[in-house]
Amino acid sequence: MNLFFKNISINEFVKSTIQSNPDLNSQELTESLLHFKKMKDNGELCICGNPLWVAGSAIVGKGCFTCITGETDSSNDYEVE
Ligand SMILES: [Zn+2]
Repeated sequence: MNLFFKNISINEFVKSTIQSNPDLNSQELTESLLHFKKMKDNGELCICGNPLWVAGSAIVGKGCFTCITGETDSSNDYEVE
């Protein structure tokens, strides 16, 4: 499977996510993004074998785009770079 995302920096992603989800804590979200990004960089995969979706994993827990959203079209979604 080949997924495409819009790339976004961690800072920009945190800013826009907090704007639409004011209940989230920006520091915790940043730490979570860094945590899952490191995991992905280390080659860790979702339980289904797909690459991790860092942006989504940071919010709802470890997983790939399809397992988290139930969709296969990620072209309108962001991934942190
Ligand atoms: Zn998966």
